[in-house]
Amino acid sequence: MAHTLAYWKDKAATLVPEGRLFIDGRFVDAVGGGRFETVNPATGAVVAEVARGTAVDVERAVASAHRAFRSGVWSRRDPRDRMTVLARFADLIEAHAEEFALLDTLDMGKPISDMLNIDIPGSLSSIRFFAEAVDKMEGVVTNTTASAVHYIVRQPLGVCGLVVPWNYPLMMAAWKLGPALATGNSVVLKPAEQSPLSALLLARLFVEAGGPDGVFNVVTGFGEEAGKPLALHMNVDKIGFTGSGEVGKLMLIYAGQSNMKRVTTECGGKSPQIVLADCEDLQTVAATAVGAIYGNQGEVCSAGSRILVERPVYEEFIHHFTEAARTAHQPGDPLDPATTMGPLVTAEQQQRVLGYVDIGRKEGARLAFGGKVPDAFQAGCYVEPTLFTDVDNSMRIAQEEIFGPVASIIPVDDVDHAIAVANDTIYGLAASIWTTNVKTAHRFARDIDAGIVWINAYEAGDATTPWGGFKQSGNGRDKCLEALTQYTQTKSVWVDLR
Ligand code: NAD
Repeated sequence: MAHTLAYWKDKAATLVPEGRLFIDGRFVDAVGGGRFETVNPATGAVVAEVARGTAVDVERAVASAHRAFRSGVWSRRDPRDRMTVLARFADLIEAHAEEFALLDTLDMGKPISDMLNIDIPGSLSSIRFFAEAVDKMEGVVTNTTASAVHYIVRQPLGVCGLVVPWNYPLMMAAWKLGPALATGNSVVLKPAEQSPLSALLLARLFVEAGGPDGVFNVVTGFGEEAGKPLALHMNVDKIGFTGSGEVGKLMLIYAGQSNMKRVTTECGGKSPQIVLADCEDLQTVAATAVGAIYGNQGEVCSAGSRILVERPVYEEFIHHFTEAARTAHQPGDPLDPATTMGPLVTAEQQQRVLGYVDIGRKEGARLAFGGKVPDAFQAGCYVEPTLFTDVDNSMRIAQEEIFGPVASIIPVDDVDHAIAVANDTIYGLAASIWTTNVKTAHRFARDIDAGIVWINAYEAGDATTPWGGFKQSGNGRDKCLEALTQYTQTKSVWVDLR
């Protein structure tokens, strides 16, 4: 489904996105009547006006979700029936793939081809995986005394507030909606203010698929105004959060200040890619490393932003990396199917990333390429693919999440040195190693502080593979069967037989 730039431009010109909140099965304006504009970062044009939800709207959405949960219309529905609705929901998402692709591309700037090849398939597989799994979850009868039967069942939590970021708007929502809805919870989804549109279409399609009113609500708006009241709400039983560490910590605080709701957090990273001299093919490794940092404009929690290269192949690796970066992930119009790199999400994010380029220079790292707004794209929020070499791991560019297309290459002496440097960070989301030595690879997997480890690969995985971090990268796991346990709780039932 490649189409042409002209095709997508035509579609974008006639697109009329829904911008109202979705509460209790219908679109409604914010009570206060507030609206905000969402802006296309490639052009600066307004994409849509969106309802600016506040505490009173959160109140309405939570009340609706709570009512639906208590009624049992979804929470006590046979798992197989929920599966049927979710399967239809996934089919409808697929049928609206082009609309979803346009909404997220216009909202946050990612290449339309990435939407079609990565975000939409990733969203579909999450919904389908959890729908298929839900009637395979079994309880347990424990081996207790002969005078009693004791069993443990898993039940949904209640109302789940899902607070998600802008870098994969549809997919981050789908990763959480899959397990939350499959297990019978009601949800209030709070998309990021930079990318609210796809969430609204998702909610409408859930109802079209046969999902009951009130089970899936969306409150658009800002973090402080809509996300915070949701996280503080006494009738919200869980917050499933993906976003920055700073806000992730706030979520834990809000839980403590309110009802001790469960909180899972998926936060940032500074993920290392380790390249050893004995890797199979340095050129292929370099090409993969380029994708691992510049894909999605570098706005990826698991971006391989620190590249640790063993000294004997250090210069050669930089040569191959530079060659590969010349063609892959070059800035372009995100609506052009050939484009591999769009603008950053906002002008603010662009300035933040350019600020880190200055910091890197001042810290004494060598700017090998990039570091500017590309000449041909001065109007949008673009930053060129950027590489710093001769980076020391103590520099801010090696320690702080830049969330843009900026790679740091750090020379290392051997694998032990590499692991020590790799672990010297507050984060622990993902890590990779390139080596042909089996023992080295497994030792690395054992010793690295990361929730996701790739050996001779990067960003590989599917719905079966857990996604989540060690340390300050968060405490949750998206995708995988474990996610089902995070949206349910156990109940122990003792039946006296005497
Ligand atoms: P962010 O933390 O600024 O915002 C995330 C969400 O939280 C948004 O919906 C926002 O409106 C809301 N929010 C902000 N302040 C809030 C508050 N005080 N109370 C309640 N809600 C609030 O993050 P972002 O800039 O949208 O996204 C980028 C971050 O997300 C990066 O750090 C990235 O690493 C992380 N991320 C992590 C994963 C993962 O799976 N680990 C995946 C994608 C993105």
